Amino acid sequence: MASTTPELVCQRCGAPLTVTPETIVAICEYCGYPRILGSTINPDEVLIVESIGRDAAVGAFWKAVEADRDLRRLRSKIDLLEVEGFYVPAWIGRVMVDGVVEYIVRERRDNREYKRLVREDISFQSGIGFCARRAAATFGITDAIYYFLKTRERAKSQPLTEFPQEKWERVKLKVLNTEVDVSEVRERMCEDVADIVRSNYAHREVTYFRVYASLTEQPKLYLIPVWLAYYRYGEGTFRMALAGWDGARVAASEPVTGLHRALYTLGVFGLIAISSFLGGVIAYNLRIGESISVPAAIFTFLTIAAPFLSYLIVKGARVERLYRKRVQAARGTVIERTK
Ligand SMILES: [Zn+2]
Repeated sequence: MASTTPELVCQRCGAPLTVTPETIVAICEYCGYPRILGSTINPDEVLIVESIGRDAAVGAFWKAVEADRDLRRLRSKIDLLEVEGFYVPAWIGRVMVDGVVEYIVRERRDNREYKRLVREDISFQSGIGFCARRAAATFGITDAIYYFLKTRERAKSQPLTEFPQEKWERVKLKVLNTEVDVSEVRERMCEDVADIVRSNYAHREVTYFRVYASLTEQPKLYLIPVWLAYYRYGEGTFRMALAGWDGARVAASEPVTGLHRALYTLGVFGLIAISSFLGGVIAYNLRIGESISVPAAIFTFLTIAAPFLSYLIVKGARVERLYRKRVQAARGTVIERTK
């Protein structure tokens, strides 16, 4: 529950801060200055990634629509409903991974099965991120963190303590609360990396697995800007997550058309055709004095069942497709690569 305590004010401008009992870093809504609560992190280690503005985010949305072969065709029927931006707090660092894995490879040669033991060394470095929130992940957040790890050389970031108030005024967005402290994250990140690496061998017959992960760059708290665009197409509402630093689409739910529309159309025509045929049979039988009980029964059944049958047919037409990058993640830990 959000509450404003009179004593808790911004150390730079004196404005009251909104915090929850779980908040460990509060960002002043007015000037963007961070205040550290119940944590040992240094305020200089809270960094902000500059965001594009709302207009640019709207532009990025339409650019992404234009760039997508399926969406481009629907462009004129897409209504952009809402665009909202926020900063996701994420712990970003670097990890060194070392280990070894052994697995059995079975091969058949000359009708005989041969077993071969493969030993692979695991050694790589990777960017690592962790969403500093306890709540279930909001749409696109993991994807945005992953994309940030891939592009952070290009993204401009700077300490919030040095971020001028005028500039904050221009790029300020809602800041999601930081709830997970770095002390808790370090160990968890390393454990999760082992899980992610192990999962890459899940399809193998592993006989031995040992991996050791260590942080080569201590995690810093980054405020990563994400824009969510909600749009309507037909009866459905879909969303697209855009990276706030370069406007790239990082995740999206998209309407499925094509095949499902074809099935829908066929289904509707099918129902009409069956009904017309039955109607014809009834009319004909009435004219020649034959019994109409069988076609009439089917006709009645179809009429009563029509809403349900239509539902069955239409159900498939509202399917959405998820656009996602292949994010290597476990329990909130995201790593940039696993090789
Ligand atoms: Zn302030």
